[in-house]
Amino acid sequence: MEQDATRQPPGRTIETDVCVIGAGPADWSSAPPWRRRGETWWYSRAVARRSTPVQDLSDGDTSGDAIERLGASRHRQVGGNSCLWNTPTLGGPGAKYVPLDPWDLSPRWPEALHGWPVEYQELLRFYERAQRLAMLGPFAYEASSWAGSGRTAIPPGAGITSRVYQFGGRDALLQPLRATLRRATNARLMTRATVVQLATSASRATVTVATPGGDRWQVQARRVVLATGAVENARLLLVAVHARGGVHDRSGWLGCGFMEHPRDRAMTLRPTTRDAYRVLAFYDRHEAADGTTIAGRLALDGEQPGHTLNASATLLPLIGVRRARLRAALGPVGRSPALRRWMPPEGHGWSLHPAPTRVFQGFTVLLNLEQPPHRENRVQLSSRRDLYGVPLPALHWQWDAADHARLVALRKRVAHALEDVGVGRVIVGGDPRPDPNARHHAGTTRMHADPRYGVVDADGRVHGTDTLFVAGASTFPTAGFANPTLTIVAMAVRLADRLAAEP
Ligand SMILES: Cc1cc2nc3c(=O)[nH]c(=O)nc-3n(C[C@H](O)[C@H](O)[C@H](O)COP(=O)(O)OP(=O)(O)OC[C@H]3O[C@@H](n4cnc5c(N)ncnc54)[C@H](O)[C@@H]3O)c2cc1C
Repeated sequence: MEQDATRQPPGRTIETDVCVIGAGPADWSSAPPWRRRGETWWYSRAVARRSTPVQDLSDGDTSGDAIERLGASRHRQVGGNSCLWNTPTLGGPGAKYVPLDPWDLSPRWPEALHGWPVEYQELLRFYERAQRLAMLGPFAYEASSWAGSGRTAIPPGAGITSRVYQFGGRDALLQPLRATLRRATNARLMTRATVVQLATSASRATVTVATPGGDRWQVQARRVVLATGAVENARLLLVAVHARGGVHDRSGWLGCGFMEHPRDRAMTLRPTTRDAYRVLAFYDRHEAADGTTIAGRLALDGEQPGHTLNASATLLPLIGVRRARLRAALGPVGRSPALRRWMPPEGHGWSLHPAPTRVFQGFTVLLNLEQPPHRENRVQLSSRRDLYGVPLPALHWQWDAADHARLVALRKRVAHALEDVGVGRVIVGGDPRPDPNARHHAGTTRMHADPRYGVVDADGRVHGTDTLFVAGASTFPTAGFANPTLTIVAMAVRLADRLAAEP
């Protein structure tokens, strides 16, 4: 059932078995076990609909390179950041899905501190379940699995190969779980409940909840799962450490190792043949024979010598400058269906255009990049406070010089691979730093079996506690280049299984 926290009597204490804090993809995905166990599960989160004062709670300080305002990259609502997904997919907002590569889990740099404490074979089982929860196609991400659509991947060479993204709608992931939760008698989704404090003891965790009217009450649970996104997970744990609520930061990693997936747009592919758009059509978003929506991408074929960053290259069409200016000047009119054909927007769908050479001037080669977990990139507590008096998060983010050198080498490899196809020339426009704002926050409560090197153990349990767990990309020791939701869901399902199996 769903309940509004403002309608609860103030000052009460609610006893429950499990309290899940948050209502984004990580929290929904840990939902299924309550159906099996017949216990009361407690969901605590922000609002059912978008609301300005609640969004102000997502604010915070930023420093370092050009990372955007925390209030812009974090969203408080049922669905969490998936409410901001802007990829039009399957008739509504949706996302690109892709798993980590097996070599993403290995320790490639000293910062990775032994890599993931999870075997890829084990993760695969949960990826397959995540794939079904998100209503995607089969768990198949190699280009060879998608041959036969009349579009052909370019042959692999020089360590570059072709793989795919799959696309899925937001509602496919969230609505069935929300509908089940609404009908459930042993679980509650509490809206307008903001968690402001956590404390743990050997047998119970206590969660303090504030509501918009100013009332506070507490939830006492045998187990608490913190799943509020990478910045907020670290913030709430840091607040608990400062309040001496039974949470300790013995590794010194709490808040550290924040990662984004920077995006590089320095390369342009200029066609030298009229055939280029047809030859490269596999790399546009399209429907495969079984109805799965996919798009080809250029991928690194396994770990390369020299501690490479993982990365993925996508082709986005470039429309002429005059058309782009005119479309911008026309505003919403420029986005009307009649004009889209004459002035198609940047993005997917270019391979279906009847006269691509007339409207496109080639492609931007978009590189989605991995970033290693540097200790200095971190979330700390600000001296500023939110409306409930809780310190806001302060995020420091920088793009490291050694990582930039890896990016420069990577551009060369991708450029060679594309030029080898023989349909165009790649121009590298200067040496810009990548855009850090993919909004794929990760890595502030890193997972490590040894409490000296991580905040949570291989199950997501906060080291030194029996009752407190963390779900979401904050637990990723490294984050590859992959859009995180498929891995977040897979790991959340894995955690849910673990919790359900506990006595
Ligand atoms: C514009 C955009 C596009 C994206 N595109 C993709 C994509 O194509 N593919 C992909 O894989 N990923 C994509 N992502 C990233 C993806 O949305 C996130 O990685 C994912 O939503 C994280 O899930 P989460 O459940 O861990 O956290 P969130 O989605 O951030 O959810 C956190 C939840 O916790 C609640 N919460 C926060 N603080 C508190 C508190 N103190 N008390 C109670 N509740 C709280 C929030 O209300 C929210 O419900 C995109 C993100 C954005 C913003």
